[in-house]
Amino acid sequence: MSSRIPSIGHVQVFQKMLLEESLQEGDRVLDATVGNGHDSLMLLEYVGPTGFLIGFDVQREAVENTRSKLEQAGKNNFQLICDTHAELGKYVLEPFQGALFNLGYLPTGNKGCTTLWTSTKSAIDQAMNLLLPNGFIGVMTYPGHDSGMEEDLEIRGFFAQVNQKEFQIAQIEFINQKNNPPKLYWLTKRT
Ligand code: SAH
Repeated sequence: MSSRIPSIGHVQVFQKMLLEESLQEGDRVLDATVGNGHDSLMLLEYVGPTGFLIGFDVQREAVENTRSKLEQAGKNNFQLICDTHAELGKYVLEPFQGALFNLGYLPTGNKGCTTLWTSTKSAIDQAMNLLLPNGFIGVMTYPGHDSGMEEDLEIRGFFAQVNQKEFQIAQIEFINQKNNPPKLYWLTKRT
């Protein structure tokens, strides 16, 4: 029997497998960096019509592109917020099952508009406080560029000292690829 795990050397494959195991119909989810809406659409597919997605992006264009993408796919169970995810607690008042932080910048957009550690940390902190038991936060970092490398180091340092009785945090990375490929951190809240 052939393997059901595709042999694609990108951490997105692992993210997909983890999302499949972590989400079900009706869940509330958060996309902290909607970008062009790819991750938001994927999350909405997992949570179905009874679920709900809240998405953030600082760029108006990203929010509008995501809105069109989701509407074209027939989705209406979402709210998009054009503001920094550092203000998450102002908009998100109810706990949720999972959140994705796909960091860095949009490869097809304004590369100057990249996520930065101070606001990322603030948003992750707030998301951790709003997470349901057994809920997850997936953080994808891009150490292949300078500010992405710095952000990755800060995130690793922060996650490494989080109390293991409250959260479990794994790091997934390809170790034999050149140019510092993306990494995935996967946090789950213990019950
Ligand atoms: N998940 C996206 C890709 C995200 S790229 C997709 O599937 O296409 C990173 C995004 O983070 C960019 O769109 C950028 O505008 C956004 N961003 C940068 N800083 C941010 C901040 N402080 N708060 C929210 N979004 C931010």
